[in-house]
Amino acid sequence: MPRPISATVHLDAIAHNVSTIKGLLTGRVCMPVVKANAYGHGLSRIYPALQQADALAILEIEGAIALRQMGWAKPIVLLEGCFDSEDIAAALDWRLDWVVHKADQLAQLTSQSLGGPLKYKPRIFLKVNTGMNRLGFTLDEAPQAVHMLDQLASKGAWPTPVLMTHFANADAANLMEVAPSPIDQHQKLMQLKPNHWASSLGNSAGVLNCTAWVGDIARPGIATYGASPGPRGAAEYGLRPAMHLQSQILAVQQVRTGQRVGYGSRWEARRNSRIAVVACGYADGYPRHAPDQTPTGVCGRIAPLAGRVSMDMLTIDITDIPEAQVGTPVELWGPNVAVDDVAHSCGTISYELLCAVAPRVPMQVKA
Ligand SMILES: *Cc1c(COP(=O)(O)O)cnc(C)c1O
Repeated sequence: MPRPISATVHLDAIAHNVSTIKGLLTGRVCMPVVKANAYGHGLSRIYPALQQADALAILEIEGAIALRQMGWAKPIVLLEGCFDSEDIAAALDWRLDWVVHKADQLAQLTSQSLGGPLKYKPRIFLKVNTGMNRLGFTLDEAPQAVHMLDQLASKGAWPTPVLMTHFANADAANLMEVAPSPIDQHQKLMQLKPNHWASSLGNSAGVLNCTAWVGDIARPGIATYGASPGPRGAAEYGLRPAMHLQSQILAVQQVRTGQRVGYGSRWEARRNSRIAVVACGYADGYPRHAPDQTPTGVCGRIAPLAGRVSMDMLTIDITDIPEAQVGTPVELWGPNVAVDDVAHSCGTISYELLCAVAPRVPMQVKA
């Protein structure tokens, strides 16, 4: 018998989240982000749930090609663009659109497009750095880049380009108190955008928290999978968790007051306690740095982590859940224990936990 740990990916939750996001976008383009193997959910696994999306965004060109092979006919955008001329050739072959975020990518496009009529007319997303200071043309460089791309696109009869930026603080509870503020970034982008171009600014936080400023094409990632970048919880936005990570109790220990549990004897019993040993450890992708009190779900209640997470096991306090016993299911995250809450307890974000589920955890799909 395999270890009892498994992850289940719920396609109905993803389809529901896409339609919830579309509802917020009121007619603007919904382009879910499926990079990093669909945030750890499995690109081909979740593919059937994406049918309501208008377009898809991804970083890895192999993933983009896989989407085409699975039958995706709507637009696909490469979020970091083409890395070399081979990528450009593949992008044109597979009808991919892409981001241009620096001068040499633009130059490459210019030289490559001189080779004659293209077999596919790409839609180029020109990325501007409006304060994130990660990727994109600076505000000084941007007008010239816009001009060059506009000429290139009109000469080649390509679709009108998209002016793009990325919010740095769209998850802020008070948008006026952050710098750069999404409102500010939006304003800077709009000042550069030719009227006939489209715009794309918002990630999940943009869609959920600054809906008015995401522009024409939204790029929701984490929200598609039912987690929230903030400031509010995913359930408050009507999102449903796509991944349920569950395991079982392997053994139960009676621990007397003053006794300790696990490596380094970090956790100490303040009362006579029942400690459940759960088949899930850091080799499954559960964060080793999870502190005591990190929530797990047992019998509809919260059982707090008690002691250090080890490679294959973790220990939780089930003193107040007398019906829990060997074989009882334990939810590491899912409908009762939000992955955002686990992440928050561990000082990280749900993205990291979802992307880190280890290959040894069997993942199944539920329609
Ligand atoms: C990953 C990514 C997103 C999605 O971000 P979320 O916070 O997961 O919604 C959007 N845009 C770009 C450019 C990205 O790289």
